[in-house]
Amino acid sequence: MDIASLLWLLLPVAALSGWLSAQHSLNPKKQEKATQKLSPDYLQGLNYLLNEQPDKAVDIFIKLLTVDNDTVETHLALGALFRRRGEVNRAIRIHQNLIERKQLSCVQREQAVMELGRDYLRAGLLDRAEYLYRELIESSTFGVYACQQLLEIYQQEKDWQKAIKIAQKLDNSGLNDYKPMMAQFYCEQAHDYQQQQQLAKSQALLYKALEMDKRCVRANLLLGWMAIERQQFKLAIAFFQQIEQQNPHYLAEVVEPLHLCYRALQQQPTFIAYLHDVLQKQSNFVPIQPLVQFIKDQEGELPALAFVTEHLKKHPTLQGMAYFLNLTRAKAHANCQLDLNLLQQATLQLLKNNPDYQCEECGFAGKTLHWQCPRCKQWNTVKPI
Ligand SMILES: [Zn+2]
Repeated sequence: MDIASLLWLLLPVAALSGWLSAQHSLNPKKQEKATQKLSPDYLQGLNYLLNEQPDKAVDIFIKLLTVDNDTVETHLALGALFRRRGEVNRAIRIHQNLIERKQLSCVQREQAVMELGRDYLRAGLLDRAEYLYRELIESSTFGVYACQQLLEIYQQEKDWQKAIKIAQKLDNSGLNDYKPMMAQFYCEQAHDYQQQQQLAKSQALLYKALEMDKRCVRANLLLGWMAIERQQFKLAIAFFQQIEQQNPHYLAEVVEPLHLCYRALQQQPTFIAYLHDVLQKQSNFVPIQPLVQFIKDQEGELPALAFVTEHLKKHPTLQGMAYFLNLTRAKAHANCQLDLNLLQQATLQLLKNNPDYQCEECGFAGKTLHWQCPRCKQWNTVKPI
């Protein structure tokens, strides 16, 4: 054991001696009595330390601190210190020792239970933490905290049913709006049912998600794709087109499925008209691929190139650049072909390396749309770039 650890383990003793000197100034008789009781144990504790038996030493020092109204705070502080230092087993021993004491007040006991719950969470013992926090749900002091911890646990366990119940309880407390999160939990359940081919159940849950949060883009996307699977293309279009009102940040997600629906209905011009219409209203929306393709098919390469050039002036994007190079290359002089090829390859490589989605909360970026950010664990914060 190194010197730092030794010093650390002496902390309880320092805390105790601080407490004892405070007692001494107030009550010399009490101090004398405590010192008499302390001496042999204290020496034995030191002995364990010197013999590199820190666990036994810690047990002795914990025992030295008798639990009463004056020392509960010291016990709690010590437990929290051990936990912060990553010595969770010691923190657990301190908090368990506290909870077993009958002389604790109701609030003190609840606080010790809360701390023990934190120890269990830190140790990854979710079921034990859940058991403790359920005890505290109705506490006027720690109830909200316990519910928030339970919400974290149920999300980690992917127990969406329980997560919905506890989020509802938190939502009722009025501290925060938990409805968008609850809508995501319904979507998670719906997604699970969809995987099991229980489509009716999945659909019912997605409608519940929309009842909870009418701006839940994910529910509309899932309902739209389910409609496509049933070949109900008009219904699918209705779901996808609502997303513009729900949250225009996600418009890029509907281009591909809408294209698919309109193709199936042989209504390509209606799709293009819709894209032009949205493009007018949403300046950040760049549905360049289907528009370029359509203009190229209907009017030829020159009008398509004119569209891309105009578009690039307003929205200088890598994707626009890639289309520009592609169209320019076709009509370029043979001498330039090689350079343009190189430029196009470099642009495509940059596009490949660029993330498509980013969390507006923590900056996490990637190629997949996560409804819960893998880094900061927030819901609805990862958006298409
Ligand atoms: Zn994040």
